[in-house]
Amino acid sequence: MKYINKVLPVSLPVICIWLFAAIKPQANTTFPLYDLHVHLSDSLSIEQAVQLSKERNMKFGIVEHPGICDYCPIQNDQQLIEYLDALRNYPVYVGLQPVVSGWRELFSDSIINKLEYVIMDAMEIPQEDGSIWRIWLEDTQVEDIDEFMEMYVNYHIKILEDEGFDILANATFLPKSIEDQYEIAWTKERMQRVIDAVVENDIAIEINSYYQVPNAEFIKMAKASGAKFSFGTNSRNSFAGTTDYARKMIEECGLEEKDIFRP
Ligand SMILES: [Zn+2]
Repeated sequence: MKYINKVLPVSLPVICIWLFAAIKPQANTTFPLYDLHVHLSDSLSIEQAVQLSKERNMKFGIVEHPGICDYCPIQNDQQLIEYLDALRNYPVYVGLQPVVSGWRELFSDSIINKLEYVIMDAMEIPQEDGSIWRIWLEDTQVEDIDEFMEMYVNYHIKILEDEGFDILANATFLPKSIEDQYEIAWTKERMQRVIDAVVENDIAIEINSYYQVPNAEFIKMAKASGAKFSFGTNSRNSFAGTTDYARKMIEECGLEEKDIFRP
């Protein structure tokens, strides 16, 4: 003890308090968290997802891609019914994540209504030549940030107004090549345009713990405008249910139960 006091300027009890503070789990939120953006995959079966959700003490929401695209497995009523039936007996929410517009016309309303929620992001942007720009691909290059952001924000407004979904997923995501310029790209004015459209169309904003978006400034502005928030990871593996970033934002932005979307 004498020796420890010689080499360390503080006493053992103080060190113990420091250690305890460093290893204690993050502060609990006053409301239950969830992950509404979980994809099943070869690395995450429904059984594994349920097990993980129990370990993480939170409910998961499973989403799959509907519509006509090369990785969209749900393209008609029958496939949607099979998807719903396959998940119905598990303790998960069941949702969809369309990536292209026009998906709704492929399905009967009565079957769509059996879903608990629909999420959509703005990461697949139709171009004038008819192609789709998948800005989530890691090699996406942006030549002019202002030009890109005008197009990107306009596309947000369009889907928020036209697509009738519940949650804006991966909100404010930026392509990898410009992600370090978030504060330049997402000006206050651009943020507010997206937030206004979100609030007007009663759509919640996903706080995404994988991409770590949106930033605190966006969340605070959205909260002040009356937006609601959801939590997601966009995961296909054991990252599902990771909420470090969500918890950080809840604390930093003072989010309460009343600010949270519930399916
Ligand atoms: Zn997704």
